Amino acid sequence: MTESDKDWLIEHFGPHAMFDEPMCRHTTFRIGGPVDALISVKTEQGIKDLLAWVRMRGHPLMILGAGSNVLVRDGGVRGFVLKLAGDFEAFDLVPRANGSSAMITAGAAVLVRRLGKYALDQGLVGLNFALGIPGTVGGALRMNAGAWGGCMADSTISIKVFDRDGNIASISRDQLRFSYRGLELEKGAIILSGQFELKYGDREALQKEAVRTQKRRRLSQPLSLPSAGSVFRNPPEQKAAGELIDEAGLKGLRVGEAEISTKHANFIVNNGHARASDVLELMTQVQEAVFERFGVNLKPEVTIVGQEAHS
Ligand SMILES: Cc1cc2nc3c(=O)[nH]c(=O)nc-3n(C[C@H](O)[C@H](O)[C@H](O)COP(=O)(O)OP(=O)(O)OC[C@H]3O[C@@H](n4cnc5c(N)ncnc54)[C@H](O)[C@@H]3O)c2cc1C
Repeated sequence: MTESDKDWLIEHFGPHAMFDEPMCRHTTFRIGGPVDALISVKTEQGIKDLLAWVRMRGHPLMILGAGSNVLVRDGGVRGFVLKLAGDFEAFDLVPRANGSSAMITAGAAVLVRRLGKYALDQGLVGLNFALGIPGTVGGALRMNAGAWGGCMADSTISIKVFDRDGNIASISRDQLRFSYRGLELEKGAIILSGQFELKYGDREALQKEAVRTQKRRRLSQPLSLPSAGSVFRNPPEQKAAGELIDEAGLKGLRVGEAEISTKHANFIVNNGHARASDVLELMTQVQEAVFERFGVNLKPEVTIVGQEAHS
């Protein structure tokens, strides 16, 4: 990054442009080397300006939500990381004329657990699963986040995106290609908001369900230690990844300060100062052991980004 890049960023984003910012401050794993520039953008115009600059200067750009599904390598990220804030933290509800459902529009920076709580308070069915997920609406849509049999795809009726040329487009449900823990998007597309259609239901039953699933989460997941949630995707037509790792006897396995959680075998926890290289080495050991024992190839669910550190 040149001095003129820095000057331009400071002029346009002031203190919301941070240089050599450690990514460990922006990931729930608390792991990751520095990014050249992390920019917090509050308006569509801000994104448009940034995209035009990045395109002109040829810099790589990555969009980050709450950093709850990413592992950033120890050498950090070259180029720009964009986080959404301000206008993208808004959401609103419009009841349908039939009175039996409502449409919620939520900005990409809204925390998905907050959206889940809002829907629950309104007595709307379909977002209870989101209550324990620490990501943003943008990240949850991109990952098609889900739990307890529900996922983002179930209630999404459209999303608004910026394509990498800086045009805003609305993508409707029939064109959205969701899959298990994924949404196909054009490379470089930035989700700005999502629209969700939800039916009104029995608020008391929803509340009971929320209490039950939150309790199950607390009992089964290592929520007091930094992690990125499930590290591996559940393989199709097999036991869950966590069960395979557990049955391979890997709970408690450590590399440096990274450890296979003793509470949930598909979580790797950071016991203090784990490095990305520790986590990656542990992931390789898990993949090899599970393949040897069950012939199953575990694929990462966490998004791995950035560069290795120079030794
Ligand atoms: C304790 C814990 C529990 C978890 N439980 C669950 C669970 O039950 N179910 C589940 O599915 N996940 C779970 N996760 C994983 C994670 O919270 C979800 O995948 C979440 O949806 C990621 O959202 P995020 O905003 O943190 O995205 P990030 O981690 O910041 O990003 C993930 C990916 O989405 C992309 N992205 C982010 N925002 C945008 C945007 N606006 N436009 C385009 N792309 C974008 C990023 O570039 C990256 O590729 C858990 C994680 C933790 C730490």
